[in-house]
Amino acid sequence: MDNGEFQYVDAHFGQFVDELRKAVQKPSIAAQNVGMGEMAEHFRQMMESYGISARIIPTKGYPCVYGEVKGKSDKTVLFYDHYDVQPPDPLDEWVSPPFSGEIRDGKIFARGVSDNKGHACSRIQAIGTLLRLRGELPLTVKFLIEGEEEIGSPNLSAFIQENADLLRADYGVWESGYMGRGEIPGMYLGVKGILYVELETRGAPSDMHSGAASSVPNPAWRLVWALSTIKDENERILIPGFYDDVLDPTDTELELLRAQGDSQRDDRRASIGVKSPLLELSGLDLRVRSLFSPTANICGFRAGYLGEGQKTVLPSKALVKMDFRLVPNQDPADILAKLKKHLAGKGFDDVIVRLVSMDYPVKTTADHPVVEAAAKAAKLVYGKSPSIAPTQGGSGPMHPFRKYLNLPLVSFGVGYWASNNHGPNENIRLVDYRNGIKMVMAFIDNLAAV
Ligand SMILES: [Zn+2]
Repeated sequence: MDNGEFQYVDAHFGQFVDELRKAVQKPSIAAQNVGMGEMAEHFRQMMESYGISARIIPTKGYPCVYGEVKGKSDKTVLFYDHYDVQPPDPLDEWVSPPFSGEIRDGKIFARGVSDNKGHACSRIQAIGTLLRLRGELPLTVKFLIEGEEEIGSPNLSAFIQENADLLRADYGVWESGYMGRGEIPGMYLGVKGILYVELETRGAPSDMHSGAASSVPNPAWRLVWALSTIKDENERILIPGFYDDVLDPTDTELELLRAQGDSQRDDRRASIGVKSPLLELSGLDLRVRSLFSPTANICGFRAGYLGEGQKTVLPSKALVKMDFRLVPNQDPADILAKLKKHLAGKGFDDVIVRLVSMDYPVKTTADHPVVEAAAKAAKLVYGKSPSIAPTQGGSGPMHPFRKYLNLPLVSFGVGYWASNNHGPNENIRLVDYRNGIKMVMAFIDNLAAV
């Protein structure tokens, strides 16, 4: 990395920020079909303006934007981002309007500035800058910017399958990364999978006087009993075969978690107001459990009367929504089959199980060269080693990248611990934005040298 190239970023940073503001001032809310085509076109034009050849490719839903620069080498890195954003509600909690891109206290505030337009823009600007300064990139770079991430990426898998030759790459960069509370740049290498289901039980055709409770079955109790067979009080999930495919952390992954230290999570626990974590775990045990243990979580429970005061009623049905966060190598389809079989085996074949959504867990091994290239770039730009999480608690549409492109993926970016994605006053800090551009530039050089 030539130091003059970083100086170029410093000298032109004002323009980069203006460009980012233009991108966040355009609403592009997938859930409400607001501004989607315009935003795709905006990113296409932005890439073209930097000499990245770009086009819009339709899907069954909102289109994808694809960009490509052929480099000196055929070795290829693919950046994945998305141009859609979450709805900005609740509006009255925003200090400045959500699509104003207001800058105050060294931060830029806008819906989508962190999730995910800041990331997309910084990457385009970094690649575009290298191209301007050198005329040629050391390796080939591709961009895939989709428009449906915030609504569950319903067409992404089919898109990747159909365009696998176009998207083929050796390395991948996932959508985002965040500075931690200790000002340590954070990276992550995977996502959990998810199985989201509804369980429903039914009793009498309509709600009844609770005087009938002595003779008419109560579907709410029925559901509670069924649920109690799924997990015990020691947090052990009781579905036969549930843990069969769970991979233990590797030695390298354990080392990464050990290196993280306790402080960030302790802070976080203090700020969420629970006395102690589940099972009284702490330190490394807690970090290992949070990333490598699957969960069975009750998201919501509805039955009978939940209004003011009392209403003595025997409900006619009960409903629970559950998510199972899964870890490599669990298969959500397999877990769904096992759940159904388990309930039937326990005599609960009257419980209706409805699939809402599923996604697969994915992780990249921590000793992969793409991880090393990113970690080295972080050291150069931030002057410290990044905190690398082998995976994360949330889920995301990584699986088709693995399945159809066999892509190793690393995630880093321009957010920070208070970016407040999806919430009011979403923001990034300008200092992180500047460093994020440099980080991508250094990463490209490191990768070319692998
Ligand atoms: Zn999001």
